[in-house]
Amino acid sequence: MSSKQGDSFEARIALILSNSGFVVKEQPHIVYLNGDNVGDLDVLAVDPNTSTLIGVSCKEYLSSNVPGSQHFSHFAQMLEYENIKYGIFASATTVANTFQSLIEYQKQKGKTIIVLTEDEIKQLEKFAFSNQKWELENYFRTALGIESKGKTTIGHSINAQKTVFIGKTVECENLIPVQFWNTPPAYIKNPDFTSDDAVLRLEPFLVVKYDLHFDPIRHPRTNEILAEPMYVEGTKIIDLGKGKILDEDDSISEHLGRYYQNAVSNTPITEKGFTIKKIETIDNGKVLVNRIKSQVASENVRRADYLDGKQERVEKVQAAKADEVHTLIHKVYLPIWEVIFKLGGNVYKRTYFAYDGDSIYDEMKNCKICKKQTSYVCVECGSTVCDTHEKGCRICSIVLCTKCATSCVDCKSGFCKSHKPKTSCGVCNLILCDDCNTRLCVKCNQIICPSHYENCEECTSVVCENHIISKRYIAVPKKFCSDECLKKYDTDYNSSGKLGKIKKAFWR
Ligand SMILES: [Zn+2]
Ligand SMILES: [Zn+2]
Ligand SMILES: [Zn+2]
Ligand SMILES: [Zn+2]
Ligand SMILES: [Zn+2]
Ligand SMILES: [Zn+2]
Ligand SMILES: [Zn+2]
Repeated sequence: MSSKQGDSFEARIALILSNSGFVVKEQPHIVYLNGDNVGDLDVLAVDPNTSTLIGVSCKEYLSSNVPGSQHFSHFAQMLEYENIKYGIFASATTVANTFQSLIEYQKQKGKTIIVLTEDEIKQLEKFAFSNQKWELENYFRTALGIESKGKTTIGHSINAQKTVFIGKTVECENLIPVQFWNTPPAYIKNPDFTSDDAVLRLEPFLVVKYDLHFDPIRHPRTNEILAEPMYVEGTKIIDLGKGKILDEDDSISEHLGRYYQNAVSNTPITEKGFTIKKIETIDNGKVLVNRIKSQVASENVRRADYLDGKQERVEKVQAAKADEVHTLIHKVYLPIWEVIFKLGGNVYKRTYFAYDGDSIYDEMKNCKICKKQTSYVCVECGSTVCDTHEKGCRICSIVLCTKCATSCVDCKSGFCKSHKPKTSCGVCNLILCDDCNTRLCVKCNQIICPSHYENCEECTSVVCENHIISKRYIAVPKKFCSDECLKKYDTDYNSSGKLGKIKKAFWR
């Protein structure tokens, strides 16, 4: 299970789940019991709509035939330890006949476990590669019996999309699959909006795996080994659209080096509200492969020295010839998105790898106000904003920026244009919402915000700044709502003794 094959089977299942709208939390998830590592779940996913956890077991190759009861029971036990009620048992082969009754038994205990075998997995991958996320999500929700709780699901948002233009279907050989589409980036938490202009570039590359073997360097007379045998290997990428060798730290080189083996032999892709540009090969790469070979040969020259019969130091050089460098060449197409979002007066461009969604260039990632990581887009002005500069409408929950939202000066709640409160402070005119507009001046009967009122010293009524009557007692200012209240206080004050006066001035 720790083989490379096993890893890629787990990755396939994880990708199907994330294309179905579930979030892959851990891969694998280690299960502990009283601090002891007792096993693992190959994938741990969560449904973002209901926070339901789903444990996954992936079985690719087993020495003993097909997965049997012991494998199922072990998996069920891991789910039990973690108190997870939903499980997926994915197997690259068929499974033992005993699975059906084991599934029934778990069902009685309130646990839903579904089994996916290779045929089903291939069918689900087809949905994923052809961007039929709605079918995928539906499949899992129905099979597992997880409701979507009325929140927006991928299915809803795809259905809500403006009618998409269906264009040509492009065939592409050796294409690294498209798993991320022209949807808004994952970091944006707004409910759906769609891209305005999207191009899927299918770019041709050669992945050149090379290796070079050096025999040991030996003393010409004694045959003593002066330098051990050596093996050099690496990967170089040739961009066939541009006719050049890429630098090793180029992000395309890194991605291709990691993913070229996942290329699918022949994938048709249909334009659905986007355009496909299959980039022409301007060069078959032969000359460049030869250049790689000579480069590798010239970069790897070995030297060793020894003492000859006259005790003089002699240097022995071992240089490789270009044709001693062996190469394994894979031609692959890498899908890259160029997507434009037009929001309010803003135009944002994003380019990213369609296989893993990694960004190449992204004009949406920073908050327009403070440059921190974007979390939302204001639906009124189209600005990208961070968590701090987002303000939703308290009534309709629409997403706004702090500039477009109207805020209540008291409780700081935000409101959109159509739900903007009609009441405001009689002194400063700032907005006060229905919860905060209950403070009225006893004199003018106007609504007053927290900064523009006092309580009358004598009767404690609310009085606005415009109607406060103020008088100092031993340098302490006292505020009153009316001449009557002032007079009452004054009389009391004057009839008090010296100590009483001080008390009255400094305490209420
Ligand atoms: Zn910000
Ligand atoms: Zn705004
Ligand atoms: Zn609103
Ligand atoms: Zn308020
Ligand atoms: Zn005010
Ligand atoms: Zn007033
Ligand atoms: Zn008063």
